[in-house]
Amino acid sequence: MKNLLALNWKMNKTPSEARSWAAELTERFEEGDAELAVMAPFVTIPTLAANLPAGVGLGAQDVSAHESGAYTGETSAAMLADLGVRYVVVGHSERREYHAESDATVAAKAKLAQANGVTPIVCVGEKLDVREKGEHVAYTLEQLAGSLDGVGADVVVAYEPVWAIGTGKTATADDAEELAAAIRTALEQRYGKRAADIRVLYGGSVKPDNIASICAKPNVNGALVGGASLKAADVLGMNDAL
Ligand code: PEP
Repeated sequence: MKNLLALNWKMNKTPSEARSWAAELTERFEEGDAELAVMAPFVTIPTLAANLPAGVGLGAQDVSAHESGAYTGETSAAMLADLGVRYVVVGHSERREYHAESDATVAAKAKLAQANGVTPIVCVGEKLDVREKGEHVAYTLEQLAGSLDGVGADVVVAYEPVWAIGTGKTATADDAEELAAAIRTALEQRYGKRAADIRVLYGGSVKPDNIASICAKPNVNGALVGGASLKAADVLGMNDAL
């Protein structure tokens, strides 16, 4: 199973900036051992579709929990699929925090993505106070169970401790493996043998100089990367490191 390097631009880059980033990436990109995909703002997806180098996939950062209809401002899974989107992030901690997304909403989004042939990347992870109490494993597994309720096995799970996102504070490779292994066991209980094909990513201040040691852990199958995804040079560095 190839590592997945999922690049989360968050609310950064206009379509013109996306075109420049893709051009810079294309100049030096060589398909290697990892699969790359860009989780782009909706409005940049068509630009990326036309400009990404072959072998780099398209992704989105969110999707509606509704199929279609009177939901002003929302983007449906069918719309994403029609643009050629392969992955969609659901349940990112910033959506859970700023848009009050519950586990049930995350599961509804993941199910609709799957129904449209788009693989959801379901994010889970604890805040600092939970970790300090030593409850991070139980908390994360409970969040995972709620977020995967009714969701099929064509899924990617991203463990993202909230205290490590955008803070420069990376969990150690052993911290990442502790949760990735616990998540793997939960996936085995839910999906049986199919769990072996499910990628578990780590996310939280990943960059070119720490990605290799984190992804070398047996249950970690790639990374969800925010800040370090914005410069094509850093992405090339991470791709080379994997
Ligand atoms: C993220 O956006 O999911 C993330 C992990 O961000 P960063 O790499 O900047 O910590």
